Amino acid sequence: MDLATLWYLTTGTLLVATAMTLWERNAQTQRSRELGLWASAYAAFALGCILAMNRSVLPGVSGPALTNVVMMLGYLLVLQGILALDGRKLHPALMTGLLVAIGAAWLLAGAGAVGLFWNHVSSFPIAVISALTALALLRSRTARRLRSRPVAITVFACHALFYAGRTFAVPVMTSIYGSDVLSTVAEITMYEAVLFTVAMSMSMLALIREEDRARLLATTRTDFLTGLNNRQGFFELAPRSLSRHGKGTAHSLLAIDLDHFKAINDRYGHEAGDHVLKLFASIANEIAGAEATSARLGGEEFAILLPNTNGEDARAIGQSIARRFTETAARRDGLAIPATISIGLAEAKAQEADLVALLAAADHALYRAKTLGRNRIESAKPGQVAKAA
Ligand code: GH3
Ligand code: MG
Ligand code: MG
Repeated sequence: MDLATLWYLTTGTLLVATAMTLWERNAQTQRSRELGLWASAYAAFALGCILAMNRSVLPGVSGPALTNVVMMLGYLLVLQGILALDGRKLHPALMTGLLVAIGAAWLLAGAGAVGLFWNHVSSFPIAVISALTALALLRSRTARRLRSRPVAITVFACHALFYAGRTFAVPVMTSIYGSDVLSTVAEITMYEAVLFTVAMSMSMLALIREEDRARLLATTRTDFLTGLNNRQGFFELAPRSLSRHGKGTAHSLLAIDLDHFKAINDRYGHEAGDHVLKLFASIANEIAGAEATSARLGGEEFAILLPNTNGEDARAIGQSIARRFTETAARRDGLAIPATISIGLAEAKAQEADLVALLAAADHALYRAKTLGRNRIESAKPGQVAKAA
């Protein structure tokens, strides 16, 4: 292989990666910091390649020293971007200290051992920072949910191993097989550099795009006003919750409708109405607890699935929500709103869990609560859930 061609290829690939990452940055405003850091990293690598190709032109060891410092800056920026995914960062003083230390090591000790430094010593910090990058990805809470995380971890772990090999294994091989090994290692290094550049930049773009897609998917399941699940979210998540908690236990569902809500809108205004909806959602969410699946099914209608909860406990939860909601709305600053809810309760005994049947039975009970005068909780008749199924 022709080494110079590989250097040119790596430089070109890095410049393309820089441009594509900057382009993506325009579209991904939530991750513009991370993408900006990675684009700068690729640009630093590209500059490092150009310096490396021309290192003999510069006086003394300044050529390889500068190449090494600029390359390390690239690796540190990549790591900085990964850490930024979770709002963490390397202290700038630490980064500067490391770069100064590498520069100083070259100037102090490198002059007498350019080959040793260029081929082996300088690979060590690269191996360490790449391993730390793989580790940061492994520990990242943001990346945990993303499919491309193992790909990105593999890319950095392989790169770390390769550079650890350059540091420790290649000197041994050189001592056994002679210095001819070095030219082969140089070719493999450049070949790996091309692959690493492509794999790194592609996996990072994949991370950001997947996260964006997951965010978008979450919005399609979420009600914009209250932040609860919407109807779609409810029908996706509630069956999962039922199957997770199994059929061997009782589950309950509350169907809730705000009473005379149209009158609240008419009397206090739509904005106050919105506030009441948000108030209800936050109270319901808090009292129902983390195991529950709460949703705004539409307008002023809500549903709360309470897994592992029998009818009696569900009734107590419903009453508690109703009480807190009415009290809080009545105390609303400057504008005391008389607000109540009607609740239909359905309980699925063990072996009965079927979401559609449960919701139909709870709706039926809710209808009864409305006709009986509102501001009350009514339970579906025993056997109604099974009948609806
Ligand atoms: P009932 O006690 O029988 O349930 O009477 P209601 O007035 O609550 O029921 P109705 O279905 O007649 O009215 C529901 C109202 O909810 C009508 C609609 O304007 C209002 N509404 C629906 N969505 C929103 C919303 O997002 N914000 C506000 N402020 N009002 C909403
Ligand atoms: Mg209503
Ligand atoms: Mg209604």
